[in-house]
Amino acid sequence: MQPPRGPSSSVTDNAARQAALLGAFGRHFGSPTANSRRVRIIRAPGRVNLIGEHTDYNDGFVFPMAIEPQALIACRSRDDGLVRLASTAFEGPLVEFSVQRRIESGEPGWANYSRGVAQQLVSAGIPLCGMDAVIDSSVPVGGGLSSSAAIEVATGLALLTLAGLDMDPQRLALVCQQAEHFFAGVPCGIMDQTIVAAGRAGHAMLLDCRDLSKQYIPVDGRELQVVIINSMVRHALTGGEYAERREQCNAGVRHFNQGNPGVTTLRDVSLETLRAAEDVLPAVVYRRCRHVVTEIARTTRAAALLLQNDYDELGRLMLQSHESLRGDFEVSTPELDLLVAEAMTVRGVYGARMTGAGFGGCVIAVVQPRAVEPLRHHILKVYPEKTGVTPDIYVTTATAGASVLE
Ligand code: ADP
Ligand code: MG
Repeated sequence: MQPPRGPSSSVTDNAARQAALLGAFGRHFGSPTANSRRVRIIRAPGRVNLIGEHTDYNDGFVFPMAIEPQALIACRSRDDGLVRLASTAFEGPLVEFSVQRRIESGEPGWANYSRGVAQQLVSAGIPLCGMDAVIDSSVPVGGGLSSSAAIEVATGLALLTLAGLDMDPQRLALVCQQAEHFFAGVPCGIMDQTIVAAGRAGHAMLLDCRDLSKQYIPVDGRELQVVIINSMVRHALTGGEYAERREQCNAGVRHFNQGNPGVTTLRDVSLETLRAAEDVLPAVVYRRCRHVVTEIARTTRAAALLLQNDYDELGRLMLQSHESLRGDFEVSTPELDLLVAEAMTVRGVYGARMTGAGFGGCVIAVVQPRAVEPLRHHILKVYPEKTGVTPDIYVTTATAGASVLE
């Protein structure tokens, strides 16, 4: 179980983690001070999405923020082009590849995210040097807080920093997305890498996935706290569910495109147009489309409400989002439904919803600061009683995107 976390405890956590990381670096590669080259430390945060689920690949909006759990990389440059990599999360010999030769994916699988980012940068003609590097991350692996994007962006920023190069964060995000597509075989949208690379402290990001334009909206921690509850349950999937949802959305697009060639994604479909097609679309396609069309509208509205500090209405939208993901998109789980329902029994909780692609992972709640401890207490009591599982709970501010610490 995660120890109680607040913004103040995470400062000491971070100092301890950095010291442990440098210790691990020394064990793998020799003392950081015995070599005249400087050991740099790079950080890249995890992320959570406030609202806007399964909207990214439909050209809609998402509304994520970067969170306190983060990946750290300690790294030092090498002249021979060799990259030697270790992770505190995975045992085994050092992973090795060279930026002077074509990089292929392979074993161990965890390193494919880093291999992919290096290869994408090299393919883009960027002159990289080699590095010795150790990764340590407090973003739970596979917990839906995008440990993968944190690793990708941290690796990219490490390689660029050691080469003395700068890259626009959005470009780095696109490089990392390509790495995830081609090296990890995950056809992800652009949200994760964008918020991890370009997040802003104290702000959530309303991201238009169609043109990648961004609006940063303040999240005032004195009035509103974000609590993330990891259900710790992932339902066994055949792996086809995500692709199936995408195909059902595409089936909707094909229908509307016949009547109007201007419709290329569900972003182009209004709720009125959708409703008028209820009797002709297959029922399941209709419900999938209804989730996406209404969720896109909820997402832009949520950003406007946060800007106006209208937290009650923001909370209601989050509940509607959850209901739509549960009923229409069918990607929730009994555990996520339970966490949402139980969170809402705590006074001072504005709203809660599943966050991430679904079938497991986390619930996000937005709450009054005074409700944080009662919520934590309540969930730690009832969730294990009802499921036999102890959840991890993170209380987090909105943090900055990836940066060079040292
Ligand atoms: P998530 O929801 O956390 O992004 P993914 O399945 O997309 O889950 O990504 C998890 C993968 O990211 C891991 O299998 C591993 O390849 C990589 N990863 C995450 N954390 C670490 C770490 N600390 N060290 C090395 N690789 C990591
Ligand atoms: Mg991921």
